[in-house]
Amino acid sequence: KRLVILGGGESGVGTALLGKEKGYEVFVSDKGKIKEKYKEVLIHNEIEWEDEKHTESKILNADVVMKSPGIPEKVALVKQIRAQGIQVVSEIEFASKFTNATIVGITGSNGKTTTASLTHHILKQELDVGLAGNIGDSFAKQILEKDYKNYVLEISSFQLDDIVSFKPNIAVITNITPDHLDRYEYQFENYIASKFRIAMNQTKDDYLIYDADDEVITNWLAKHPVQSKMLPFSLTKPIENGAYLENETIKITIDNDQIIMPTANLALEGKHNVKNAMAASTVAHLLKIRKQTIRESLENFQGVEHRLESVLKINKVQYINDSKATNVNATYFALESMDAPTIWIVGGEDKGNNYEELYPFVNEKVKAIICLGVDNEKLLKNFSSMVDVIVETQYMSEAVKIAYKIAKAGDNVLLSPACASFDLFENYEDRGRQFKEAVRSL
Ligand code: ADP
Repeated sequence: KRLVILGGGESGVGTALLGKEKGYEVFVSDKGKIKEKYKEVLIHNEIEWEDEKHTESKILNADVVMKSPGIPEKVALVKQIRAQGIQVVSEIEFASKFTNATIVGITGSNGKTTTASLTHHILKQELDVGLAGNIGDSFAKQILEKDYKNYVLEISSFQLDDIVSFKPNIAVITNITPDHLDRYEYQFENYIASKFRIAMNQTKDDYLIYDADDEVITNWLAKHPVQSKMLPFSLTKPIENGAYLENETIKITIDNDQIIMPTANLALEGKHNVKNAMAASTVAHLLKIRKQTIRESLENFQGVEHRLESVLKINKVQYINDSKATNVNATYFALESMDAPTIWIVGGEDKGNNYEELYPFVNEKVKAIICLGVDNEKLLKNFSSMVDVIVETQYMSEAVKIAYKIAKAGDNVLLSPACASFDLFENYEDRGRQFKEAVRSL
């Protein structure tokens, strides 16, 4: 059978290797440039490839096409492939056929990486478990090379759009807020439906863990019931089967077996991380990880780079890198978790942001704003009347120096942009690294 792979990145090359091993005739085609390290792998494994073009005659004769998540549906070639009736799948759909592992699939608008990393951190203390999806080595490559007994997968909506029969044994939906709407015909409903595909093939033996405080999720479930066993989590109300917070203590009950953990012991700060901890520990509790192991793992988890990452304390001022906050909701939780007067570095490429939900936190906690972007007009309009100091710059080093000058002992300096990074930086990692370098060189 002929497997054509569109996109020669991590998931594309991983799928190529797995496909070749399983006896497919494989062809990789990328409209852009394939990175050298991936070209080497393809050449070394004698897999046919092309880049900077798509040769239709070599693509439209496929039996199955693996489309990388970055390629939008509206691309002409994709439409042509569909019109010919060729099956289009995502990497997780293709790869999951070749493993019998127990799969934990984590999706949501924010908190996927944190929750997936934390879940993996707990499970790996007692289980043979890989971490894949949007993180690290591709799922396909890990199946080929390691064949773990369990996987924690971080799954984006784009990966879910092209599943057919893939199902996680345990699904997690962290939350759903508007994001990536450009890929969903600007219909929030389409994006929600995409997220819920994570449960569409689940049966009554599978589990769905979700945020019961998120009305987008609960309203959707009320209208579109799923077969899965439900394990909700909540910060605000008691949950009989699932997780909730009472007197600053997380309580997780599954079939009358309860685990209790004070939030004071959690390594990660912020309410959103209490939710992430609830989701991760519910998975661990389901998979029979010992209670003591779960508690210890939550205490010693190191966190993930660029997510409310403590960088340095200089003159009793704490510098925090939250570069991964590329939307307003992520920044909402960052500001909410600030426990000191905050100098807030914000801005970048606007995704149609509505800043109103941040007003209370800005009024209460933010003493100065540094707008770091090419176009700061919206930020100035929203926040000028709320803070004493609001300045603009297009240089990270300057932003950090200004923050340093304003900051007094006990303050926080927070980079939480609420915007994409592409106006001034390569990506959010680049933005976060530049922030950390600038802080370290103060
Ligand atoms: P994702 O992988 O879904 O993009 P991350 O774990 O990388 O999520 O976190 C992205 C941003 O969202 C970070 O700035 C982080 O502080 C914030 N965040 C993390 N967990 C949550 C949550 N449960 N709800 C809202 N925001 C969150």
